[in-house]
Amino acid sequence: MEKYIYMDNAATTPVKKEVLEEMLPYFSEKYGNPSSIYSLGSASKNVIEVARDKVAKTIGADKKEIFFTGGGSEADNWAIKGIAFANKSKGNHIITSKIEHHGILHTCEYLEKQGFEVTYLDVDEYGVVDLEQLKNSITDKTILISIMFANNEIGTIQPIEEIGKIAKEKKVYFHTDAVQAIGNIRIDVKKLNIDLLSMSAHKFYGPKGIGALYIRQGVKIDPLISGGGQERNRRAGTENVPGIVGMGKAIELAYENFEEHNIKLLNLRERLIKKVMENIDYVRLNGHSTNRLPGNVNLCFRFIEGESLLLSLDMEGIAGSSGSACTSGTLDPSHVLLSIGLPHEIAHGSLRLTLGDFNSEEEVDYVVEKLIEIVNRLRLMSPLYDKIKEEK
Ligand SMILES: *Cc1c(COP(=O)(O)O)cnc(C)c1O
Repeated sequence: MEKYIYMDNAATTPVKKEVLEEMLPYFSEKYGNPSSIYSLGSASKNVIEVARDKVAKTIGADKKEIFFTGGGSEADNWAIKGIAFANKSKGNHIITSKIEHHGILHTCEYLEKQGFEVTYLDVDEYGVVDLEQLKNSITDKTILISIMFANNEIGTIQPIEEIGKIAKEKKVYFHTDAVQAIGNIRIDVKKLNIDLLSMSAHKFYGPKGIGALYIRQGVKIDPLISGGGQERNRRAGTENVPGIVGMGKAIELAYENFEEHNIKLLNLRERLIKKVMENIDYVRLNGHSTNRLPGNVNLCFRFIEGESLLLSLDMEGIAGSSGSACTSGTLDPSHVLLSIGLPHEIAHGSLRLTLGDFNSEEEVDYVVEKLIEIVNRLRLMSPLYDKIKEEK
């Protein structure tokens, strides 16, 4: 393949060179176990604390409030199960939304089987949760509200500040899955009244298999993984030292280059959307036109299957996604697209293109050019499209 264009940055991002360089020594030269007392061990321990500090500073937290995990899914599981089990004497009710990542939804479904009650809030046509419904759902049994910062499929950003206020007022813990937000939105956990926040390094040009949970000091939470005394007795297991070092560097870079990254992605996003809208008919932009992640484009092409579109794009060396990475491979349309009110047949024709630091305007133009060709070709094979054209 001559050209490879990667537009699936919401699924994962490549590790930046500077990040990889900082990680490399911790695989083979500086391999000490951070729990060992000799200097090879304490060197590892020190770099973990440096990285912890970088992560904490970025979100306005104290370093004592950052706990490294094996990624975003683990952080989500820990937040939900940890709060549920530690606070069940107070109540058994959890509030979340219908458009969360499966790391949250499947964890909540598991807890329902354990006797917890879960309210799944509706979202409007743009994917924004209903704050009135949130307020009305809180009871004296409610122990946790978990609402994602920004959606991984349609990019919609939630009213996190308002949710934080409501949670604080009602004395309910507030967790947010900020996996897609880190690097794209400036976050101050104290200002936003966030009690717990999940993040994952591979979504912001760091390595896979490393993430963190921010836990505000004073929050009552059980551990998810028991064993040794790592992470101040809250997350057992020998630390992923190269991963942690990489995550620290990646988050530092993400916020050093924040404005530049955002402006670039916004421009690319608007260019892509505008060109598609101008050149292809029966296409719909999913999510909000402005209140969305800078790199997120999610489109529905009528009379076309998202899967055939993806395969055709792949043959042209273009990587995109239909729905979320976890659901492609199944034929169920995305739970997010159904929640914003799209009928099955339209939700099936969805394409998510997520832009990143390594994409260019030329790539956007090339992708649009190929999209026009592919959509036209696939529609020629669609009996439904024929009918619509005749009626015109
Ligand atoms: C990717 C993602 C996760 C899962 O993170 P992993 O590190 O891949 O486990 C959770 N939530 C959201 C919103 C995501 O985009």
